[in-house]
Amino acid sequence: MAMIPCKECGKEVSSEAFKCPNCGARLRKAKRGFFGKIFKWSFVLFNLLMFLWVIYIVVFYGDGVVSTNDGMEQAANVVAGTIWLSGSITTWVIVDVILGIFVLLTRPKE
Ligand SMILES: [Zn+2]
Repeated sequence: MAMIPCKECGKEVSSEAFKCPNCGARLRKAKRGFFGKIFKWSFVLFNLLMFLWVIYIVVFYGDGVVSTNDGMEQAANVVAGTIWLSGSITTWVIVDVILGIFVLLTRPKE
């Protein structure tokens, strides 16, 4: 652990420190660790994928409802679409909460 002079006040501070203990100047940016990055990116990617998936369900089953005049088939598409949609959104929310907790836990510390 080396000592470096603070660029704001000149006092010797640890090179490990993010902030100068004397004047409070920011010495270096806190970086996310390896797992922090993984969780952050999986959070972003997961939201993107779920967003596309939900659009796909709406378009797929919505199209199934519009493209047929058969009442039974329309009803079946509405029911299947609703089940897929509610199931996917529930999964989305649950995984988002879990991943969100990990993203918060692995965020850089000052
Ligand atoms: Zn300082």
